[in-house]
Amino acid sequence: YPPDKIRNFSIIAHVDHGKSTLADRLLELTGTIRKGHGQPQYLDKLQVERERGITVKAQTATMFHQHNFLGTDTKFLLNLIDTPGHVDFNYEVSRSLAACQGVLLVVDAAQGVQAQTVANFYLAFEANLTIIPIINKIDQPTADPDRVKEQLKSIFDLDPNEALLTSAKTGQGLELVLPAVIERIPPPPGDSSSPLRMLLLDSYYDEYKGVICHVAVVDGALRKGEKISSAATGQSYEVLDVGIMHPELTQTGVLLTGQVGYVVSGMRSTKEARVGDTLYHTRSTVKPLPGFKPVKHMVFAGLYPADGSDFEALSHAIERLTCNDASVSVTKESSTALGLGSDVVSWACSIWMFSINGLNSKVHIQNPAMLPSNPKQRVTACWEPTVIATIIIPSEYVGSIITLCSERRGEQLEYSFIDSQRALMKYRLPLREIVVDFYNELKSITSGYASFDYEEADYQASDLVKLDILLNGQPVDAMATIVHRLKAQRVGRELVEKLKKFIDRQMFEITIQAAIGSKVIARETISAMRKNVLAKCYGGDVTRKRKLLEKQKEGKKRMKRVGSVDIPQEAFHELLKGS
Ligand code: GDP
Ligand code: MG
Repeated sequence: YPPDKIRNFSIIAHVDHGKSTLADRLLELTGTIRKGHGQPQYLDKLQVERERGITVKAQTATMFHQHNFLGTDTKFLLNLIDTPGHVDFNYEVSRSLAACQGVLLVVDAAQGVQAQTVANFYLAFEANLTIIPIINKIDQPTADPDRVKEQLKSIFDLDPNEALLTSAKTGQGLELVLPAVIERIPPPPGDSSSPLRMLLLDSYYDEYKGVICHVAVVDGALRKGEKISSAATGQSYEVLDVGIMHPELTQTGVLLTGQVGYVVSGMRSTKEARVGDTLYHTRSTVKPLPGFKPVKHMVFAGLYPADGSDFEALSHAIERLTCNDASVSVTKESSTALGLGSDVVSWACSIWMFSINGLNSKVHIQNPAMLPSNPKQRVTACWEPTVIATIIIPSEYVGSIITLCSERRGEQLEYSFIDSQRALMKYRLPLREIVVDFYNELKSITSGYASFDYEEADYQASDLVKLDILLNGQPVDAMATIVHRLKAQRVGRELVEKLKKFIDRQMFEITIQAAIGSKVIARETISAMRKNVLAKCYGGDVTRKRKLLEKQKEGKKRMKRVGSVDIPQEAFHELLKGS
């Protein structure tokens, strides 16, 4: 297939607008999968995707379609490059789009443009792709395609006449989709006489074949048996197997300019396969393709085994869970104060940047325990990561959104109307404020009508403090958290109150404190269970009575010194939810 008979495109949509269903229909229409057979939603390969109905990992399929183009009946090779549909995967989406020349922008005819439609549109627009608007679900009784056309015009300046009206459910209008792909989207621009450059789109681990990479050949060609190198890691591999996804892996032994397919090359872990990396012939020198970004971790979770002796088992389990996902990395650290409670304790936090002792070098802190406790080392400035959030809501909810976002320390960047009934708002928010419960709250205050998307933005200076939780005067480092100074009092109060509810009374008094440095800002006490020491005293022997009471006191002291407070796992969960 010469490049002019190839089209590479992607489908982008807000979640649930019908991307997977449309992809399935196109695969059926071209005979790539049989109608009504096999798994529904072929592209959603991962179990978790089927279960949750969202596309997490990009999957890709090649199909063939006969079409009369410019007067000749021609067979075209069409690569449908799937993109993750979830808000957290903007970079992966942008890499998938880098292998395309056009997109189908699917919008639900009843719901209209939503937050991820906007975010995805801009990714495609910035990549200079041809955009074919598809107004889907026109079979629904509440469908209002004209209103969607109005939105497409007002938000994206798209020509409403270019929109195709479809129902991926009934099949209505679908026959026009592939002709539009062939006629409107340009062929891939690569140079077949240049040295090989291919873009790594995605990877997964297969028990039998090992790491399988999805690639798009930008220039040149790739053949089985050749030696290739990675621009990102400098590692070299031999190509053991190469082919297309049709939709199952189909060996072809070669991939030519403009084609999209898979490569097996003896990589040992998906961590070697970096999305956006350039692969090239080891014998040649090439300029890497633009846009590669090393994985940047934005959200962190600490997991601790309840029983220290389970540490190895836990860490093994985590390795297994994450071996298929190169965007997750695992490091081991130790906590002195843990080892209590039950089962696994997990703790969400994110990454901050601190300048310590006024040094110019900034230190990345991903765990509050990493902050210096040495009073001589002073934190002189802090920054936290922020995101730019796009929220689309029916206009009656604007007030609630403003309240929610200002509670979460948001800064309004934009406020406009996309049609007569819907508003679009943009906010800069600290990442910290959206990782825990933001989405749920947003949905609940808008009766489910809000749609939300965010992209990572830069670090911003912020007045952060470390909030310690002390049990009987001892800090529990897994409970320490970093909060904004203005919120410290409230969060501290809430944390100690919650802990009080979850920790059972014990043989000795327990004090629960929240503190910033040496300053206690909230305090609760759980009184000791009172063993009735006097029950054994028959007579009125005062000295004996006093002795017994004294003894009990001493026992209490000893217990306190040991400080073995049982913290149930719910307490950690509760803290996690609230902070
Ligand atoms: P995705 O999240 O964009 O991949 O959306 P899906 O393809 O999973 O579709 C979401 C839901 O909408 C599913 O229940 C589909 O059956 C349904 N759906 C998709 N297309 C249509 C359509 O044209 N009409 C109707 N009525 N439902 C559709
Ligand atoms: Mg889907």
